[in-house]
Amino acid sequence: MPELPEVETVRDGLDRLVTGAVVRDVEVFRDYSVRRHDGGPAGFVDQLRGRRLAGAARRGKYLWLPLTDVAPTGQTVPAAALLAHLGMSGQLLVRDPAVAGEWEHPHLRARIHLDGAPSGARYLDFVDQRTFGHLSVTDLAPTPDGAPGGRGSPLPAVPEPVAHIGRDLLDPALDRPALVERVRRRRTGIKRALLDQAVVSGVGNIYADEALWRARVHYARATDRMTRPVVGRVLDAATEVMTEALGQGGTSFDDLYVDVNGESGYFSRSLAVYGRLGEPCRRCATPVRRDEFMNRSSFTCPVCQPRPRNGRW
Ligand SMILES: [Zn+2]
Repeated sequence: MPELPEVETVRDGLDRLVTGAVVRDVEVFRDYSVRRHDGGPAGFVDQLRGRRLAGAARRGKYLWLPLTDVAPTGQTVPAAALLAHLGMSGQLLVRDPAVAGEWEHPHLRARIHLDGAPSGARYLDFVDQRTFGHLSVTDLAPTPDGAPGGRGSPLPAVPEPVAHIGRDLLDPALDRPALVERVRRRRTGIKRALLDQAVVSGVGNIYADEALWRARVHYARATDRMTRPVVGRVLDAATEVMTEALGQGGTSFDDLYVDVNGESGYFSRSLAVYGRLGEPCRRCATPVRRDEFMNRSSFTCPVCQPRPRNGRW
């Protein structure tokens, strides 16, 4: 599954490869992939055709491309956006039609024909094997704090379906002290708070486990009993882990190809606890332990991250 660093890599690629391009045509091959669009596949095509892509923004794992009109008398401040969520297996591929030819990926769900991208005509292809991902055109709503809606766009607006989601740890407009307080008010375990998209977006199971190990905090610690510095340490660790993943890439693309690859090199090379059941902790050599957690797993070092007694610490 693409995690936040992979989605950020895609956002960065889209920003460079398709900003300024105009949508000439749209083909939807699988209606289910535009199920979140009000107005169905035909409406989706209508609302995209002839619009200009004004950039690429992201909050958590949601990506959006603000849309403007092409005519000089039209809308120049974006009021709508093409919104994408990659789900479990989604990819956005930017392809040169001259090279792609009649290339048909078996899981191609939608194709957006672009003119005037920085390197010429392009296809923006949405490929999604498991079809949990989706595309839609949605209205933009002003942000309550007046800050940019997400990373990558100066526009103080966010797609309506994303408005209820917390800013993520890589968002320059994140209010860190407010986030610390939000976590401490949750009356839950710290890992549940990290995974709650209304608290902070984009922290998945893998990064939560890695951050908690790095901060030496057990996942079940009660947030309302954690001090501000300890919560801050966990958030710093999560930010570090994701920033390092971003730096190490593992996701490669050139000007023909924007890819999301959940099996990025980072995951196999650098994980400290996640997926390492029974292997030695990289700090103290104690075997890593795995617990059932919210229908998934939590990996911890039992020495570095002692389980709280009675929720107390
Ligand atoms: Zn350890």
